[in-house]
Amino acid sequence: MKKITSLLLFLLFSGILFAQEGPFYATMDATDANNLKKEMPQEIQIIAIKQNQAAVYISEEAAHAMHRNVVTHGPGYVFKASEELALKAIEPKPAKKQRRVLDFTINQDAAVAEAIEMVNAQNIEDQIIELQDYGTRFHTKPEAEQAVLDLKDKWEAMAQAAGRTDVSVRIVNHVNTGMPSAVMTIEGAETPDEFVIIGGHIDSTAPGSNNNVAPGADDDASGISTITEVARVLFDMEFVPNRTVEFMAFAAEEIGLVGSAEIAEEYKNNNVNVVAYVQFDMTNFAGSLNDVYITTDSYNSNDLNAFLIELMEYYNASGPHQITYGNTACNYGCSDHFSWADQGYEAAFPFEASFSESNPNIHTPNDTYDITGDAFKAAKFAKLGLEFVIETAKSNTLSVSEIAGLDFDFIVNNKQVIYTLKNVSETLQTLSIIDVAGKKVFSANDLGQQGALSIENLSQGFYVAVFTTQTNKVITKKFVLN
Ligand SMILES: [Zn+2]
Repeated sequence: MKKITSLLLFLLFSGILFAQEGPFYATMDATDANNLKKEMPQEIQIIAIKQNQAAVYISEEAAHAMHRNVVTHGPGYVFKASEELALKAIEPKPAKKQRRVLDFTINQDAAVAEAIEMVNAQNIEDQIIELQDYGTRFHTKPEAEQAVLDLKDKWEAMAQAAGRTDVSVRIVNHVNTGMPSAVMTIEGAETPDEFVIIGGHIDSTAPGSNNNVAPGADDDASGISTITEVARVLFDMEFVPNRTVEFMAFAAEEIGLVGSAEIAEEYKNNNVNVVAYVQFDMTNFAGSLNDVYITTDSYNSNDLNAFLIELMEYYNASGPHQITYGNTACNYGCSDHFSWADQGYEAAFPFEASFSESNPNIHTPNDTYDITGDAFKAAKFAKLGLEFVIETAKSNTLSVSEIAGLDFDFIVNNKQVIYTLKNVSETLQTLSIIDVAGKKVFSANDLGQQGALSIENLSQGFYVAVFTTQTNKVITKKFVLN
């Protein structure tokens, strides 16, 4: 009797610690669930489908098949600890609060110019190699936990070296994995209750090697190294944010977004005001023409995508810090930003390539640093990360805007763009209007100092208007067409 009890206890306990050693509950895209059911009917039970989302009970084998088949880079499903939680997750969500596309502003020119000049690709390279050298960071392996503890030490040492007393680093333990996550916080100087967060996952996977050889250099040592470089630059330039800024390295993304789901849920339960979340997961493989690919999945924030586009148009249109961009779709539960979007937060995920052209070596022992060989690409993501953090968290440091001297009026009314530049010394040259997928949908030249342009061919949605002046200044304005 006693033996049976302890055996049961052991099974229960290990079931909790290593949630995916057997079948488990999850949510996924309904189409993916139906395809999986056709392919391996014994391995998946579809419990319910609501609004294109399925609550399922799947075997480990089916989970691996998801990893292989789905045109996405992440797991393609979201782990749920029970049937009840899986069913609850596919219930329709209340509509999001009012859009705040116009609340994200650009006015930290001096700080951003200083920051992006300081990005050092060598730091990113060194850390990617450091992380791949653990051999594996699969969530059940001791190396995974060690990597998180070492990252905490690294982040603490960076903050200490910079003499920061407003920075803390904590380990977050989880219910559904034995692997912890790490969170670094820079407390906001003005509005510490408002959070700006960037993150990535520090675990890795390579099912073909039984997860024994899973270097995960691009997926996602690159993202962790990118956000670490963002922090390093902020510390070195003594940036003090008005809002609280957090850096997160999540456990167990590869088995269904486990670490980020628990943290995002905790933030929601505690009513934490997360202004915006941006995910960095795979930043260093140049598989496509452009540098950055905005992901346009429906759960992502159009507001935030528009802002990322605006940042790149404003700061990275040309010159040594140029960043070109395109768009792609990532599908269901493809990375940790889904966990934040799922809790109703504004989330975005700029990615390294279009998904069909992203790093083909991920989730294998071949996801190593020498596939890319430099960190040139990831450095661009670090610059975008800095622009996002600095402009979203803001700072008291006096910042002289390049366009501050321009007295510019811009309104959109009756499907017309109406603009007036009151300075006598400048004229406007070009206007481009870009949609949230990063597509240029309108352009005009020789604008002079004032005018009205019809945009009646544009459909409803969020847009970024990009004006250039004859002295190559860039003025960006976001607007919504209803
Ligand atoms: Zn990943």
